[in-house]
Order: sequence, then C-alpha cells, then structure tokens
Amino acid sequence: MLTEEERRERERARKRLWRAKNREHLRECGRRDYQKNREKMLERGKRYRLNLTPEQKERKKERDRNWQRKFYIENRKAILEKKRGRKQSKEYAREYWLKNRERLLKKKKEHRHNHLEQYQAQDAVKSAVASGKLKRPDRCGKCGRKSRIEAHHYKGYDRKYWLNVRWLCRSCHRIEDAMNGYLIIQIMNVLSVKS
Ligand SMILES: [Zn+2]
Repeated sequence: MLTEEERRERERARKRLWRAKNREHLRECGRRDYQKNREKMLERGKRYRLNLTPEQKERKKERDRNWQRKFYIENRKAILEKKRGRKQSKEYAREYWLKNRERLLKKKKEHRHNHLEQYQAQDAVKSAVASGKLKRPDRCGKCGRKSRIEAHHYKGYDRKYWLNVRWLCRSCHRIEDAMNGYLIIQIMNVLSVKS
C-alpha cells in the first residue's frame, strides 16, 4: 500500500512527464490564450505591479534583473549580431535620423556654432574643389592609401589658411588632429608652468 505522500509524488511525476511530452502543444495553447486574453492579462499585470509592497517590488526587480542577465548571457552572440546588423543597415540610419530629426538638427547647429571657423574652412575647401581651384586627390598624402580623402587644415582655421590643406585619409586625419590637440595641451602645460 502506498502512503499518501508517495501517491502524491507519483501523481506529480506523471504530470511532469505529460507536460514534457506535450511541451509544444502547451506552448501553442499558451500562445493562443495569450493572444485571446492579452488586454486582460496586461491589465492584471499592471494591477499586480501597482499593488506590490516596496519589499515585493525590490524582490521583483532583482528577479527581473537576474532573468535579463541570464537571457543576455545565454543569447549574447545573437543579441550583438542583431544589434550590429541593424546598426549597419541604411534603413536603421534612416529610421534613426527620422526619429531623432529635431534633436540631431539642433545638435548639428550647435556644433556648427561652436566650431564656426572649422566649418567655414571646410566650406571654403568644398567650393574651391567645386570650382576647380583645388583638386581632391584619390590617395592619402601621408600613407598613400586609396580611400575617402579629407582636407586637413594643418595651419589652423584662420581665414588666410582656409585653402592650405593636406589631403589625408580619414584615419591619418584623425591621428594628425589628435597630435595637434596633444601638442596644444603640451604647449599650454609648458606655458602654465613658466608663468
Ligand atoms: Zn592615410
């Protein structure tokens, strides 16, 4: 004769087995129920979250965080790939631009305002190239790489130097600018020590 506890355990095991065997079916049912009762369930979830005590809220937060962490660790590769794929796509860039148009335009305007000389120097080069006064080569003047070539204002952005440029690839241009910034900081350090 089985004890009450044994009988219950056997029943539980039977149910577990049935669930394991019918996992797909159960998932499908769950999906269907969710679709059918979506509004009601969302409402119930909202009510549940509103009525939580602070301790319960804290516990729930911790649970959610753990779940997110676990999900991220398990699906890290897929998540990163998806993100990267999306970010590289032209549609993503377009969508991002349209979504943040106001903010981006304002930022651009601010940047132009704060770097006015630089923009004016760039515009001067652009129109000189357009009129044929300057010619933009297709190779970097420093490393010789064939790439998108930018005008580097190595003498600064003063009006008289607007067309004094070195033609550099993007990467060499960044390095030169960083070196200039570095030199300026060094010079300022020296001056501030002396004064
Ligand atoms: Zn280069």
